[in-house]
Amino acid sequence: MTMTYLRNVAKISLKTEKCIGCGICVNVCPHEVFIVNNRKAVLKYKDNCIECGACDKNCPFKAIEVKAGVG
Ligand code: SF4
Ligand code: SF4
Repeated sequence: MTMTYLRNVAKISLKTEKCIGCGICVNVCPHEVFIVNNRKAVLKYKDNCIECGACDKNCPFKAIEVKAGVG
């Protein structure tokens, strides 16, 4: 079975200017939403986000904001 999610509803924003590409968000995200490219995080699979908030809580540079329970 393939899991699918509603498109364009996840409330997650990434402030690229604050990101240093440490990769913590890649490691903590259970749904592989992020990649790091050229030392910056990218929301590669945003529609996979379940708004768990792990990336928001763990980013040391406050580059990610998640509004849990919206999408
Ligand atoms: S955890 Fe924050 S600083 Fe680190 S790669 Fe992700 S968004 Fe960038
Ligand atoms: S809120 Fe959770 S599922 Fe969504 S990108 Fe962050 S860690 Fe991944």
